[in-house]
Amino acid sequence: MPVKNGILDIMRLTVNTVEETQTLAARLAKLVQPGDTILLNGDLGAGKTTFTQGLARALGIRRPLKSPTFTLVREYRTENFPLYHLDVYRLGEEGGGDELGLAEYFGGEGVALIEWSEFIQSELPQDVLIIDLARLDQDETGLLRTISVRATGPRSEAILAALEK
Ligand code: ADP
Ligand code: MG
Repeated sequence: MPVKNGILDIMRLTVNTVEETQTLAARLAKLVQPGDTILLNGDLGAGKTTFTQGLARALGIRRPLKSPTFTLVREYRTENFPLYHLDVYRLGEEGGGDELGLAEYFGGEGVALIEWSEFIQSELPQDVLIIDLARLDQDETGLLRTISVRATGPRSEAILAALEK
């Protein structure tokens, strides 16, 4: 993990609305390039698909984005590169993610966003941008949601640095 001034470099935001989540996703959409891999972590309902929808829309994708829980992958065309949306939740029960060849979606000509990437751990590239989404306990203003972003290599660190500006 990248270290800046002796502290782990991590960007943390509170997001009160879907719009705030999707605004961050739209900012990320401006930074991604072919070959980038983004992991979306968090429990069911944390906002992983909502985030992906915001990113897809910012890339000009008009087709409604549905979670590919049964197909594992959905591919969308953008002006400059394909966007791969993976949701491998069902592999958590079935296993066998390693033999599916999903790694072909990473580090190539497209941008990949992955929900439940822990189930295909051995298929993942080294350098990934990790986005942790969490629903925390209710405070007096309502349900508190946070999004944290961290990097695991030079390319994801560059994205994170640009996102923090
Ligand atoms: P996941 O893919 O992580 O299971 P979804 O994105 O499908 O989660 O669902 C998140 C749900 O929470 C959606 O119904 C969305 O409208 C709602 N929601 C409420 N506030 C937010 C927020 N700030 N960010 C993301 N989703 C939110
Ligand atoms: Mg989802």
